[in-house]
Amino acid sequence: MKAIRVHEFGGPEVMKLEEVPDLTPGPGQVVVSVKAVGVNPVDSYIRTGTYYLKPPLPYTPGMDAAGTVEAVGEGVDSVKVQERVYVGGTLSGAYAEQALCNASQVHRLSERVSFAQGAGVNVPYATAYRALYNRAHAQPGETLLVHGASGGVGIAAVQMARAGGLTVIGTAGTERGRKLVLEQGAHHVVDHRKEGYAEEIMALTNGRGIDVILEMLANVNLARDLTLLALRGRVVVIGNRGSIELVSIHAALVAGLESGTLNPVVGREMPLADAPLAHRAVIEPGAHGKIILIPAR
Ligand code: NAP
Repeated sequence: MKAIRVHEFGGPEVMKLEEVPDLTPGPGQVVVSVKAVGVNPVDSYIRTGTYYLKPPLPYTPGMDAAGTVEAVGEGVDSVKVQERVYVGGTLSGAYAEQALCNASQVHRLSERVSFAQGAGVNVPYATAYRALYNRAHAQPGETLLVHGASGGVGIAAVQMARAGGLTVIGTAGTERGRKLVLEQGAHHVVDHRKEGYAEEIMALTNGRGIDVILEMLANVNLARDLTLLALRGRVVVIGNRGSIELVSIHAALVAGLESGTLNPVVGREMPLADAPLAHRAVIEPGAHGKIILIPAR
């Protein structure tokens, strides 16, 4: 099979498409035939070699993918061969035609979403869920500011919060991004590149302030966020810590994909060989949903 391999840390160009041996599952493991791969900013931090997660070289990048189950190891009864699935992390890397996973990393993918959408579930939606509910304890009726709502995590948070009965204000830096944020369920959208936008946000709350802020760029915004908070308000900094796999989070995500409250937005699809281009694009401003890589086979 083909996989992106990184033999040395560095710029996007260190990612090369190579032929590698096919994978076979051990006990408790699953091999997924990958149909689409989700590109996350953290993939590019890891590739530089300066991030706290430093895989032994060579390695295949990526934590998010969707596809069908190709083979299951001894003792696996949670999924069946040919079942549609998305993965929450892998053992072998996601930027490949096949991915080896522990059975606990493989989750059912509803028929109502595409493989490309499924590849945009794990990191964005699990992060948004954890921030909104496990950290901020958001409640229906509260006001939420998604500070950076046009990207993978922001859109996931907007959809979840709208379905959960919050009043949602999103921010985006482009006209296209702001339109997307409104389409995905935000009640209001503002431009985080515009002078004086904090006053605009405050006015939208009639001066009361925001109950929960999910912050995508804390180094730029944290001080300003504190001035926007209502009494007993909370800010969750969505930093770059490793993702925690919680069974309850994925149970909620699988249900949301089935019911249609969660709908991953695919902004751009590229061939797997274009992983270097995708790593440049995921860091550039102008987010519009997820960037997805498509393996050839
Ligand atoms: P993404 O798809 O690349 O989106 C980035 C978002 O940040 C866009 O909405 C972008 O808006 C916004 N942004 C840019 N400048 C901003 C500003 N001045 N103020 C507020 N927002 C601004 O990335 P993502 O996957 O959503 O991830 C967002 C951040 O969370 C990244 O830094 C990522 O590393 C981090 N993260 C952490 C975890 C974790 O486990 N803790 C998990 C996932 C992601 P425009 O492009 O419209 O300007």
